[in-house]
Amino acid sequence: MDKAVLHDHLDGGLRGTTALELAKKASYNPLLNVDDINKFFDRSDCVSLEDYLEAFIHTTALMNTYENLERIAYEAAEDMHNNGINLYESRYAPLYSVSANLSIKSVLEAINSGFKQAESMYGIKSGLILCGMRNDKKNVEKVGSIAIDYKNLIIGFDIAGPELNYRPSLFKNTFNKLKEAGVNITIHAGEGDNVDSIQDALDNGAQRIGHGVRIIEDIDIINNQIGKTAEYILNNQIPLEICITSNIHTNMYKNYTEHPVKNLIDYGFNISINTDNRLMSNTDIKKELLHCSDMGINNPEELLNKSARYSFLN
Ligand SMILES: [Zn+2]
Repeated sequence: MDKAVLHDHLDGGLRGTTALELAKKASYNPLLNVDDINKFFDRSDCVSLEDYLEAFIHTTALMNTYENLERIAYEAAEDMHNNGINLYESRYAPLYSVSANLSIKSVLEAINSGFKQAESMYGIKSGLILCGMRNDKKNVEKVGSIAIDYKNLIIGFDIAGPELNYRPSLFKNTFNKLKEAGVNITIHAGEGDNVDSIQDALDNGAQRIGHGVRIIEDIDIINNQIGKTAEYILNNQIPLEICITSNIHTNMYKNYTEHPVKNLIDYGFNISINTDNRLMSNTDIKKELLHCSDMGINNPEELLNKSARYSFLN
């Protein structure tokens, strides 16, 4: 049976060893004198979102050539295969890699080439979701048109970056164009921002919600009342791309005990389990499944099978 990961950032999943090797090759100073590269990137104990995001400066800095992107994409798919996954959705904000020496087309082709190599080695199917950075309106508009122009090289569109103060409706025009062009849409919402942001994502065409975990705040457990956004998501079984460890590392929840994923499953929400940023969160899908078991979720592997039914790779 197919097993899918739907929410994983390409620039958040480099192998530490690869990052170090590429840094040495490019004489990229910030990493050259690091003793323990995995520890350097591990933001499990980060103090703020800024601290968490700082790690990405160093991964994206290395994603600046065709060869590097191809290798990073190949290794991401290979690592997913080694974790039992055969449908892998990877996401990336492609403008980080574009330069005078590397066109957007080359960026997309390099990533796809890495994915294809992994597919011919292992049979794993991978696809790329493009992310616009929501704190930069021009970036979102530009990545939106790239998604339309290169529809055959991608599987979907998302907006990433800080949620608070950057609701999806700020980019209504872009989302309208994407919908018209038939590009799949998933939107980060309901992690850094509240339930209204999830409703806003739905209103702008989101077929799935990136995180969406705060939908729990739309349910009054004691009085057994449910808000209209939660009701809509339940009735339409909109997939929530849950990333447990990531939520804890960005300080959304203090620990695994406080994370509401089990409650969401018990309420009947369509839950998918994901990795988000494997390098910074020192995780992989096997570890996430173990956390699920520890939290009392029976047979969490089934959630991966379920995710496969909602993959944009279908
Ligand atoms: Zn994410």
